[in-house]
Amino acid sequence: MYIVPERAIADLMTRAAAFEAVEKVFAAMAAGDAYNFPVVREAIGHEDALYGFKGGFDRAGLTLGLKAGGYWPNNLDKRGLINHQSTVFLFDPDTGKARAMVGGNLLTALRTAAASSVSIKHLAREDAKVIGMVGAGHQAKFQLRAALEQRSFDKVIGWNLHPEMLPNLAEVAAEFDLPFEPVELDGLREADVIISITSSFEAILKADQVSPGTHLACMGTDTKGKQEVDPTLLTRATVFTDEVAQSITIGEAQHAVAQGLITEGDIHQLGAVINGAHPGRTSADQITLFDGTGVGLQDLAVAASVVDLAVQQGIAIEVDF
Ligand code: NAD
Repeated sequence: MYIVPERAIADLMTRAAAFEAVEKVFAAMAAGDAYNFPVVREAIGHEDALYGFKGGFDRAGLTLGLKAGGYWPNNLDKRGLINHQSTVFLFDPDTGKARAMVGGNLLTALRTAAASSVSIKHLAREDAKVIGMVGAGHQAKFQLRAALEQRSFDKVIGWNLHPEMLPNLAEVAAEFDLPFEPVELDGLREADVIISITSSFEAILKADQVSPGTHLACMGTDTKGKQEVDPTLLTRATVFTDEVAQSITIGEAQHAVAQGLITEGDIHQLGAVINGAHPGRTSADQITLFDGTGVGLQDLAVAASVVDLAVQQGIAIEVDF
């Protein structure tokens, strides 16, 4: 089997390869060729850690495996390690033999950013010029970098609960030679595309703070109870997601569905748009909303892609196992 350590990922994986892997696997999910297994997430009663598995099988890409890991809140303070820790294990679907073990920390950020940028490619207006960020933490930088490649944006605006983190967004805007402007939430009406990527447990963005024609990627809500936008916004928008079952239980749509504002049938797979089975955006003033919950198949897709790159470049460590 191959081992691709965390330290090798940054030099191997590109945003383009992550984008391609995630777009393909979303399409396979919507075509019924790939499915995610039920997620396991447990508070293990040690170090306040949350640990779990996200797995799946992509029959089209022949990718089988799981991501194991979670959140160790004391890592940074006690050990100087990052709090989110994960590893991807891939198996040969023909034999069940272990194929690869891959560092999953950077890959998680890249696959999450790829998901929202796939949604922007397929759902945002072609003439989108202003991108608005809600959130300025670790993931926000990856999100913004990937999004800026999808349209000819000419300005980045952003809001964050903790304004001292806004320089993170300014830094990425500067990498693309774009101006950055901090705004109040009302200022987000100027945005043609909005990405929310926070760890909020209550609605931040109100329905009237989003203009007609906007594409919104809600990426922070990946757990029961988390929330980033006013649920009534989902009644004004055409709602898309990576996986409907996750969207209504742990995604942004959990609140609108629980309140009876929309039903499961109102939520469409982004993969269906990629496949041409759903028209996606049909007018310039439609609001489109992508509820990105994060599925195991995304992790497997980017891990498989990085193993291929590592083998090609002679970087993969091969062990007899
Ligand atoms: P981080 O700790 O680096 O940043 C957290 C961000 O949330 C900051 O912008 C912070 O100011 C903001 N924030 C914190 N509490 C808030 C509150 N009560 N109200 C509004 N904003 C608040 O975290 P990160 O690594 O950037 O992750 C951000 C979120 O993305 C987390 O909720 C994480 O679980 C989620 N996430 C989702 C996926 C997915 O696939 N959808 C993948 C990875 C992470």
